[in-house]
Amino acid sequence: MTGPGAPNIAGKAMTVLGAVDPGDLGVTLTHEHIFIDLRKTHLPYRRFFVEDGRLVADPPDDDFPATELHLWEAKLDLSNMHLARNVAPISDNYFLDDEDLAVREVAEYKRHGGNTIVEMTSIGIKRDPEALRRVSKQTGVHVVMGTAYYQRVYHPDDMDSRTVEQLTDVIMRDVTVGVRESGIRSGIVGEVGINGNPLTDNELKSMRAAARAARLTGAPVCIHLGGVGEEKHRVLDVAADEGVDLERVIMGHCDDLVNDMPLLYELLERGVYAAFDNLGREPEVVTPSRTALIAQAIPGIIDAGYANRLLISQDVCWKMHLKAYGGLGYSFLLERFIPGLKTLGVTDSHIQTIMVDNARRILTFAAPQD
Ligand SMILES: [Zn+2]
Repeated sequence: MTGPGAPNIAGKAMTVLGAVDPGDLGVTLTHEHIFIDLRKTHLPYRRFFVEDGRLVADPPDDDFPATELHLWEAKLDLSNMHLARNVAPISDNYFLDDEDLAVREVAEYKRHGGNTIVEMTSIGIKRDPEALRRVSKQTGVHVVMGTAYYQRVYHPDDMDSRTVEQLTDVIMRDVTVGVRESGIRSGIVGEVGINGNPLTDNELKSMRAAARAARLTGAPVCIHLGGVGEEKHRVLDVAADEGVDLERVIMGHCDDLVNDMPLLYELLERGVYAAFDNLGREPEVVTPSRTALIAQAIPGIIDAGYANRLLISQDVCWKMHLKAYGGLGYSFLLERFIPGLKTLGVTDSHIQTIMVDNARRILTFAAPQD
């Protein structure tokens, strides 16, 4: 179904309840998850340890001690939360499937002034359009649903043999017809899972398909990480090569670039949106909090003229991120981070630019191009 004929919803944004006037989106979190299954990323045989002040994981191996496996299979609760926070992967932590809880947590966001959530759960991690629609109806929060091939561990088994055209068709169908038989349409192509280091053929193929589907539908694009260092440029080159205006692209997970500001500015110079979207999630142990470093960097990025290319979000995706499990919930930015930015001199008008205007601009569909 590639080629001419994609419905033209230019000037509108697409939510799980249908097309809306982008002016209705209001305060928006541009990268979150309400339902997701990330258990494949956190295999029971991965051991975590601290290196250079950061929590890192061993590569998977089969040498896992029998007496520790019960932790992987436990339900997350207050008795084992400290282990999940520090060292031991507990599979239940990486699975968001409780609809009643989702309604309560999203309602908390609304209570603190939130209006819209971009739900970036994409193909392979148990995207649930019908449940997203129910949560949106019950809370009154707009939900924009994603579509793309996620990180390589979640690619289909036959990804090696799939063509760019086949991948493009699936993404296009999600945007123009709806996911599976739901009739519920994706409003953004993302998150496109690109880990890199090194970039794989399948990652580049997934990026090319995402970009092509975005051009053919007018949808915006959000990239997960885009690789490391210079790889980010190569990934953007693929999008540009497919004819996507880079001003329609979000480079997601830019949080670590707070330690590589020259690269951040190179990316911004190419026209993309830079998203600091892991705020409140702290990998650091002995180095300064990354969230605090980003807060301190934002006034300088605004002064450099890039207020209209900044996005901030939290990437809630584990149980422990939810308030019910002692986390910060979906309202951390509204409750704490934004008030903190104001103490650093960021004005209400810049907050409006970042939380409302930028989100509205990127989520508004462009005209499809053949
Ligand atoms: Zn995400």
